[in-house]
Amino acid sequence: MTTTSAAIASSAAQSATKSAYAVIRHDWSRAEIHTLFALPFPELMFRAQSLHRTCFDPTEVQISTLLSIKTGGCPEDCAYCPQSAHYETGVKAEKLMSLEAVLVEARAARDAGASRFCMGAAWREPKERDLDRVCAMVEGVRALGLETCATLGMLTAEQAQRLKASGLDYYNHNLDTSPEFYGAIISTRTYQERLDTLGHVRDAGIRVCCGGIVGMGEAREDRVGMIAALANLPGHPESVPINMLVKVEGTPLAKGASLDPLEFVRTIAVARITMPRSVVRLSAGREDMSEETQALCFLAGANSIFYGPKLLTTPNPDSDCDMRLFDKLGLVPMR
Ligand code: SF4
Repeated sequence: MTTTSAAIASSAAQSATKSAYAVIRHDWSRAEIHTLFALPFPELMFRAQSLHRTCFDPTEVQISTLLSIKTGGCPEDCAYCPQSAHYETGVKAEKLMSLEAVLVEARAARDAGASRFCMGAAWREPKERDLDRVCAMVEGVRALGLETCATLGMLTAEQAQRLKASGLDYYNHNLDTSPEFYGAIISTRTYQERLDTLGHVRDAGIRVCCGGIVGMGEAREDRVGMIAALANLPGHPESVPINMLVKVEGTPLAKGASLDPLEFVRTIAVARITMPRSVVRLSAGREDMSEETQALCFLAGANSIFYGPKLLTTPNPDSDCDMRLFDKLGLVPMR
């Protein structure tokens, strides 16, 4: 071994020792997160994978299925979203699905191997009578033996408690991006309103699913800011979806430049290092990702995917493709 390679090996061994402890911190500075993003790729991957192994079986991937229970016509103006009523995307506004129709989909998801069933509604916030119907859906899906998750927009404290009483396991509400870039993406709801909803969900005893989207034209500093906001929440979200923007014709972000897939992998790795016990979900955007990029994401510490042909209104790899990729990589669904 040369002197240089011995030095690298020694430094890597020190890093491994340091990273072998999954210390939960809520005081990440942006400078620290920036340094992680800027690490040489092999070092970043090594640190992320070392930590991943201390908290999880690296061969297991949690599988969720996402169903749009109320599609389109949303009054919010999220610039990435084909369901916003502000943009002409061809997505039609539909009514809330019936309980029976939701349970048919949930049974099919369970039989296809999903352990969690997520229900998404394109609302600013749920109305009281709609919330009653969603609570009945949560009870019905749980009775099928599935974990439940809902994403319904902003919640009051009382609404979060009602969902908890119906048995809801997870609530998804993303921060989307950094506080600084947020205003370029959404004008109809503030960052603070998102944080307030997350607080109500946490206070009600529901587990939090919260992440963001990259590839929206943000700078690396914004990806740093997004991870800092997530990792410095009072509790790390139990589930952290990291989405790659899916460009949809008609939305303001349809024509932007694409993010380098390796920068996406770096974002996953930094999420893994800063939130070591959270399940990090390789979420939207997999349809356009190569198998190699997805494999790197799993190496970087992603251990959850959405499974099924659609993510709300955008395409997702079909289940057979996913199972073939799992077979190639020796991955198995987490139980
Ligand atoms: S992301 Fe959600 S809140 Fe925003 S426009 Fe789409 S459905 Fe509405």
